[in-house]
Amino acid sequence: MSTFQAPKGTYDLIPPSSATYLAVREAIAAPLRNSGYGYIETPGFENVELFARGVGESTDIVTKEMYAFETKGGDKLALRPEGTASTLRAALEANLHKGGNLPVKLWYSGSYYRYERPQKGRYRHFSQVGAEAIGVEDPALDAELIILANQSYRSLGLSDFRILLNSLGDKECRPVYRAALQDFLRGLELDEETRRRIEINPLRVLDDKRESVQEQLIGAPMLRDYLCEACKTYHEQVRELLTAAGVAFEDDPKLVRGLDYYTRTTFEFVHDGLGSQSAVGGGGRYDGLSEMIGGPALPSVGWALGVDRTVLALEAEGITLDLPAATSVYAVPLGEEARRVLFGKVTELRLAGVATDFAYGGKGLKNAMKSANRSGARLALVAGERDLAEGLVQLKDLQSGEQTAVALDAVVDEVRRALA
Ligand code: ATP
Ligand code: MG
Repeated sequence: MSTFQAPKGTYDLIPPSSATYLAVREAIAAPLRNSGYGYIETPGFENVELFARGVGESTDIVTKEMYAFETKGGDKLALRPEGTASTLRAALEANLHKGGNLPVKLWYSGSYYRYERPQKGRYRHFSQVGAEAIGVEDPALDAELIILANQSYRSLGLSDFRILLNSLGDKECRPVYRAALQDFLRGLELDEETRRRIEINPLRVLDDKRESVQEQLIGAPMLRDYLCEACKTYHEQVRELLTAAGVAFEDDPKLVRGLDYYTRTTFEFVHDGLGSQSAVGGGGRYDGLSEMIGGPALPSVGWALGVDRTVLALEAEGITLDLPAATSVYAVPLGEEARRVLFGKVTELRLAGVATDFAYGGKGLKNAMKSANRSGARLALVAGERDLAEGLVQLKDLQSGEQTAVALDAVVDEVRRALA
């Protein structure tokens, strides 16, 4: 008989390791929740046109990696490859930017889909936590986001990562630079596809990983030397704010990143223990995106951190998160009457907020105690006919093996005391 397998480039999150994924999502979200960001959730798919315009027709994401399809009703949709375009679309649709309360600060967490060549750290279904601050141009906002991402990683115990920082200029200075770069690139020995890229998205050529290309890029004009005064000042302020916050970063004049819509501040978090899939997160300012998708001018900044790669980074640094055991108390009934009574106690304990589980399926004592130990519980609650006849249950400390008889109606209090 054949069994099904997860589709190529995907994997399942299963216990116990899935608990680490949840904890990572939580660790990334916590500083955002604490800094005025509200939770947003958008559909897993959107009109394909939103991404074509919002991510950029010339990006790998749109040309190669998107899961686009037509519905039975003829709608052209795509599974979301990233979160920024959807978030901005939703904010505009709900008029969040009209409340006179800018910036609109939002965070999200979910699944994203890209048709990529699967390898370690690169999947077709992956998970991101992201943040967007919409509608304000203020270097402190760019700095805030970088500081918060840094705080998330630090709170997980990560230290082997670096922050790469660059400015991509704005609509004043970037076109001048773009033309200069194109002139330079047209004089190089490049393949057909790369030559085409020079015409549509020349900055991406700087990002080419091939040695043969990188060699020729020595001496290429650098955006840094073309930034207008406003961009220079803005960037300098972001750098100063980060330094004042004690957040170390590296200037990386070649950092361009994959999305077309970035302007000014752009950054990437790279982890040095991950091999070639080293980017654990990235983001930047996207002042023109709102207009590109039909909205008003809304200068914005955001990032997305990859949950999968962050988990790999934890593994690379040998960090095991200190997660509380899922179960504190495990109830083991011996016989039918005990089953009924202990099941009632389990419900009572759960209502009292104590994580409790039960030996289902009429297991014998030996088996049930094995399950109790496996559950990670600190305490077992064991009762047979004789205990019940006396109005008692046995409370057993699974670490010390010590056992005490407890009155039935004192179970919740005694358990609480024992766990405290
Ligand atoms: P890369 O250069 O590695 O392809 P990217 O620039 O495409 O990354 P972004 O679009 O900026 O990545 O997404 C932000 C983060 O999401 C990345 O830093 C990474 O941690 C994660 N990520 C992106 N694509 C994938 C993928 N296919 N599998 C797992 N994680 C991913
Ligand atoms: Mg990519």
